[in-house]
Order: sequence, then structure tokens, then C-alpha cells
Amino acid sequence: MSLAYTAERAQEIADNLVGVKAKLDETLQSKGASAQKARLVAVSKFKPASDILAAYEKAGHRNFGENYVQELEEKSKELPRDIQWHFIGSLQSNKCKVVAAIPNVFVVETVDSAKKATTLDKACAAAARAEPLRIFLQVNTSGEESKSGMLPSEVLEVAQQVVSTCSHLKLAGLMTIGSPNPDLENGENPDFKALNECRAIIQNALKINDLELSMGMSDDFQRALLQGSTNIRVGSTIFGSRPPFNKTAA
Ligand SMILES: *Cc1c(COP(=O)(O)O)cnc(C)c1O
Repeated sequence: MSLAYTAERAQEIADNLVGVKAKLDETLQSKGASAQKARLVAVSKFKPASDILAAYEKAGHRNFGENYVQELEEKSKELPRDIQWHFIGSLQSNKCKVVAAIPNVFVVETVDSAKKATTLDKACAAAARAEPLRIFLQVNTSGEESKSGMLPSEVLEVAQQVVSTCSHLKLAGLMTIGSPNPDLENGENPDFKALNECRAIIQNALKINDLELSMGMSDDFQRALLQGSTNIRVGSTIFGSRPPFNKTAA
């Protein structure tokens, strides 16, 4: 795969990144919440490695998100080692080994059961990672059956199990994918509100206070930031639209 990119393409991606970052900063400033910081994850699924390198070199960007293990594995091998990869796709048990073996995976955002956490924990032990691997628990905040993630009522128990039995994992946050067309309640997105509530319950029960909230994509990241997101995942606004989802590619 060629890593070459044109000057035009690099400029386009860099401009888009600047635009999203400006909105991110503006939104946080509008809250007057000087304490809230948020990370921008550039979601690069289905986009060529050359696009990622352009964002890396031209805009100094370091956090990228990928949905498919094989695609992540291939890109991570040919791209710079100080990239911080976010795995944001559906995590299959038989792929945990591959993910755990990629040294610069920064966080797996989509752990959706205690069983999956245990499998990933074992894979991390086998891979002899230098430090515990950060994970977010994915929560199905809307309760739609088609969505992945555990139910809000299940999260505390899974969190407890991760903290007490998965020594090669670090429970670092919670993640949700908001409904595409949410009915706002008093201006708030109920999915994002539900994720905040899950965090409060877990932090209170486990006596911790550093859990992140990964929520917000191209269409709703400003709303997510207003509701406390610390990690937004933005794809099409940075890299352009993707080909329609193709099940055979998954
Ligand atoms: C693809 C994807 C994104 C980015 O979506 P955009 O609408 O292109 O910004 C964010 N999060 C997850 C989990 C995704 O699969």
C-alpha cells in the first residue's frame, strides 16, 4: 500500500481537522468549563493509510480510530509507532489476541461484556504489554436491540469485575453511540445523559473519579461535549464520506 498523498489531499484533511478542533475548543469555552478537556479521535475506517499519514505529518494528529481488526493491524504496521490507536469496532473474542499484540493500541473502546473483558485480559497477559491496556465499556444507552453494548443496568457489575479480576486491563471510561435522530429532552440527548448516569454510579461504587466519557461523532459531537464528553470520535467530517457499509467487508 502506498503511503504517498497529494499536497491537496493533505491540505484538505488538515483544514478539516482545524475546523473540528476549533469547534471543540469553542464548545468547551462556551461552557466555561476550563477543567473539561476532550480528545479528538480521527476515525479513519475504510480510508487509506496515506490519509492517516497526511493527518499525522501535516496536522500533527496522533489519535486515530479504527473499526476492523485486520485493517487496524495492517495500518499499525506501516504507520508511525507513536500513533495512539483507538479500537472502536465490534470486538470479537477470537480477535482479542491480535488487538492485544499491537503495541500502540491506546484504548479498546468497545468492551461489551465481562466475558470479553476476561478474554482481552488474558490476551494482554500473553502479549506481555508494558502496561495495562486501557478499556472503555460500551453501553447501549438507547436500549435498541440492533445496537451493541451492555445495558446500563449491567455496567456496574462488569466494571467491578474488570477492576477486581482483570489486572492487565485499566478501566478508563465508558462509551456510547448516540441515536442518529434523538429526541432531545430539555435540550439534552438522553443517550449522553444515560452515559453520565452510568459513570456516576460506577465512580461512586468503586470510589474512583477519573472515568472518561467517549461520546459524540460528526453529527453530534458538540452536543456530546456540552454533556461532558472527554473523547469525541469524528470520521466523515475529517476524511470525507465513506463508501456505504458493506457487510462482507466486516
Ligand atoms: C464510524 C464511527 C464513528 C465516526 O462516525 P462519523 O459519523 O463519520 O463521524 C464514530 N464512532 C464509531 C463507533 C464509529 O463506528
